[in-house]
Amino acid sequence: MAYQENSAITGSAGSGYPSARFAAPVLVALALALCAPLCPAQEMAQDQGPAPRLASDPHADSHIAEAIRQVSAERIRQTIEKLVSFQNRSTISAQDDASIKAGKGIGAAREWIKAEFERYSKECGGCLEVKTDTFTEPSGERIPKPTVITNVYAVLRGTDPKQADRIALVTGHYDSRNSDTLNGTDSAPGANDDGSGTAVSLECARVLSKAAGQLKFPATIIFLTVAGEEQGLNGSKHFAQMAKQQGWKLEAVLNNDIVGGNVGPGQDTNVVRLFSEGLPAATIEADIKRIRALGGESDSISRELSRYIADVGRSYDAGVKPLLIFRLDRFLRGGDHYSFNQQGFAAVRFTEFREDFNHQHQNVRSESGIEYGDLPKFVDFDYVAHVARLNAATLAALASAPAPPANVKMVTKDLENDTTLTWEPSADAAAYEVVWRSTNAADWEYVQTVSSGTRASLKVSKDNVIFGVRAVDAAGHRSLPVVPEPER
Ligand SMILES: [Zn+2]
Repeated sequence: MAYQENSAITGSAGSGYPSARFAAPVLVALALALCAPLCPAQEMAQDQGPAPRLASDPHADSHIAEAIRQVSAERIRQTIEKLVSFQNRSTISAQDDASIKAGKGIGAAREWIKAEFERYSKECGGCLEVKTDTFTEPSGERIPKPTVITNVYAVLRGTDPKQADRIALVTGHYDSRNSDTLNGTDSAPGANDDGSGTAVSLECARVLSKAAGQLKFPATIIFLTVAGEEQGLNGSKHFAQMAKQQGWKLEAVLNNDIVGGNVGPGQDTNVVRLFSEGLPAATIEADIKRIRALGGESDSISRELSRYIADVGRSYDAGVKPLLIFRLDRFLRGGDHYSFNQQGFAAVRFTEFREDFNHQHQNVRSESGIEYGDLPKFVDFDYVAHVARLNAATLAALASAPAPPANVKMVTKDLENDTTLTWEPSADAAAYEVVWRSTNAADWEYVQTVSSGTRASLKVSKDNVIFGVRAVDAAGHRSLPVVPEPER
């Protein structure tokens, strides 16, 4: 066959996607042969199969598209202003009954968030289980005395008994701080950091619980708000450890922290940064050897999640696109996704394009004509709504999809230029898709459907590309892709 794999690979080198100039010859050149397990070798050699599609082609579920349109910038404004009204939501601020009654301190914020989740649940006929995860954090550098910390969350249980143990989770931290992380009394509005992320989690809960009657998500979605972030990620650490100890099948964690789109010079409201770790925090020495040998430095499960969100961003009109940053977090900063990464979960961080450091971790004041403080007036509520739409679409897509294929293997027993992949069937999968990209491309470039069986043979050399396999249901919902392990 007139197979020009090398030109196809170099044609797209250096960019995420092949240009239009390259697309046509690439599609012609990259003819594939796909085969069911019992397909004769003879037929395989003759069948060049359909041309692969571009992985960047959008695909949307119209019901999910309709659901995310219900995200309201006005609701988000109300949520953020309510959170700010608690004056100071520091983890070490008041949580006694009198303060809760007076509407001041983190205890009042906690009770209000809980009541909000309960209100959404009432509106969907009790579809949400509203829960708290409470523990006492011992004293430490940023915790002057043992302090009760409470994470508040709502569970939208999956409708399919075979899939309900799979979980997609969105989180934001509802604690706040001012210039002094040990000051639990003076104003610490935390409108952007992280009223915005808390509002994203709440708004996703409101909209998706409402949509759940019609959409019937087979897998579970958890809407989480944590405390303790500013004192050392205490809340998320406890929650992630609980998830690990209880063996949760947590497939995706979306952490929203500072997604307010600070109104100021240099802001780009068309994008939201999406940070993902490369080498996983939970990596052990044996993994490093394998990653080094396979060139798997950019294929952590968190990075596959970020590519999945990029795909969602192309498929749904959220109003904002994820800007993939291949790095755990910004310099000198950290966030709750890291707590989940440490426990081996796929977790990513959404943050606005350009932060204004005068408007976070600052006492509210004016100095030399500069306004300091994390106030609602610096938050772009439309922007937060766009980020919430992107989150809601991702959660809905993941919870609608079949489980990712298990035990994905790449046959490497002989030296050969083709590639054979095998995997185990996923519940509710109607088909599978093999995706691949050049080793130096950031995102998946090509996709080939495997309509029957759990094996694919492709006329593409495994030496030159990175492969992934994902499950697809009858309605076209895609699972997260799984990168194959070599098998001899
Ligand atoms: Zn934060």
